[in-house]
Amino acid sequence: MITFGPMTPTVADTRGALTQLSEDERLLRQSVREFAESRVRPLVREMDEHAKIGRPLIDALFDLGVMGIEIPESFGGGGASFFHSVLVVEELSRVDPSIGVLVDVQNTLVINALLHWAGSDLKARLLPALASKSVGAYALSEAGSGSDAFALTTRAREDGDGYVLSGRKLWITNANEADIFLVFATVNPDAGYRGITAFVVDRGTPGFTIGKKEDKLGIRASSTCELIFEDCRVSRAAIVGEVGKGYKVAIETLNEGRIGIGAQMLGLAAGALEHTIRYTKERKQFGKSLAEFQGVQFQLARAAAGVESARLLVYNAARLRDLGQPFLTEAAMCKLVASEVAEATASLAVNLFGGNGFVKEYPVEKLYRDAKIGQIYEGTTNLQLQTIAKQILA
Ligand SMILES: Cc1cc2nc3c(=O)[nH]c(=O)nc-3n(C[C@H](O)[C@H](O)[C@H](O)COP(=O)(O)OP(=O)(O)OC[C@H]3O[C@@H](n4cnc5c(N)ncnc54)[C@H](O)[C@@H]3O)c2cc1C
Repeated sequence: MITFGPMTPTVADTRGALTQLSEDERLLRQSVREFAESRVRPLVREMDEHAKIGRPLIDALFDLGVMGIEIPESFGGGGASFFHSVLVVEELSRVDPSIGVLVDVQNTLVINALLHWAGSDLKARLLPALASKSVGAYALSEAGSGSDAFALTTRAREDGDGYVLSGRKLWITNANEADIFLVFATVNPDAGYRGITAFVVDRGTPGFTIGKKEDKLGIRASSTCELIFEDCRVSRAAIVGEVGKGYKVAIETLNEGRIGIGAQMLGLAAGALEHTIRYTKERKQFGKSLAEFQGVQFQLARAAAGVESARLLVYNAARLRDLGQPFLTEAAMCKLVASEVAEATASLAVNLFGGNGFVKEYPVEKLYRDAKIGQIYEGTTNLQLQTIAKQILA
């Protein structure tokens, strides 16, 4: 179990280089790297093929202490910072972006939303469980509302001392493994986004079922499922934040969450580059290793510069968030750039592995497939561009 050091970030913490890690950040990265190499790496291909993350690995992630990174120690969590979550997601994604996103959704979306918006009773009930054994899922998207998330139609009808949920959510990460679902529904469709309200729904609540699991191009081990609500009754105590303020919960958590996706894509790119450097040093053609050809060296150099630029953007956005500074534009930029760097680096990896890049026996074809999701979820590339354009043109 990792123990986190003193966490309150100060301006002094960030006065050095962005990539300069404090002692506790360095130790955390080392522990997670060792875990990823010893516990995740041997399972990557099998998890991809079976499209499943086994419970023993999820339990090991809880034991490692990375499923409740920002949860206060008094609730059994790590009491650490958002930046620590980002480091963990990066390191896990370096080996398997499916494990990266499981941990990312848990920390940067579900726990983050509860820490900021849940009342004390809900926190006391949910945070110890999330830190020790329960996986969380974040359910906003629907078939008709992806980019236009607040056009959602899942209905929460007030009824006696609670609400009755009806509707369907689509593409929900962690749905197969999760016990705790943060679900966005509208209490008043006529009120537009002002009707949207966030509810916690526990697995097993009557009227709530997990629907079809998607068969995906990449991050195949990460479950992505439909959620079905048919007259699903929840108590008033299940509301996170206030009635009608769910849009704020969603906007704020997604602004932070997309830094986590930036970290996932950064880790993926870094992993793909490491594989490629190793391979091009070993593989010989024309009597030389591939890495001895200047044409290959320049491609690797460009990829390394891309990974470093993604890292600077991701770390900067995360550190700004921890310092309580505005980070909206930086978060959008980091996801935009990191997801493009991930795709480009994984594509180069496939090219430089040659035929071996195209077969499953080698690790890079999977990373190439996994990279594509970075430009889609938690706001597509066009939506990140929209956010950045709005800020720079204001
Ligand atoms: C593997 C996976 C996991 C996911 N996990 C979750 C989850 O855990 N929780 C959750 O709530 N959702 C999740 N999603 C949903 C995801 O967030 C949405 O797919 C995403 O927001 C895009 O929505 P959409 O698919 O409806 O695409 P659309 O909104 O239909 O967009 C299609 C295309 O149109 C473009 N476009 C749309 N509007 C504009 C515009 N105004 N200007 C310019 N271009 C535009 C988009 O950029 C995109 O290229 C997941 C999706 C996937 C595939």
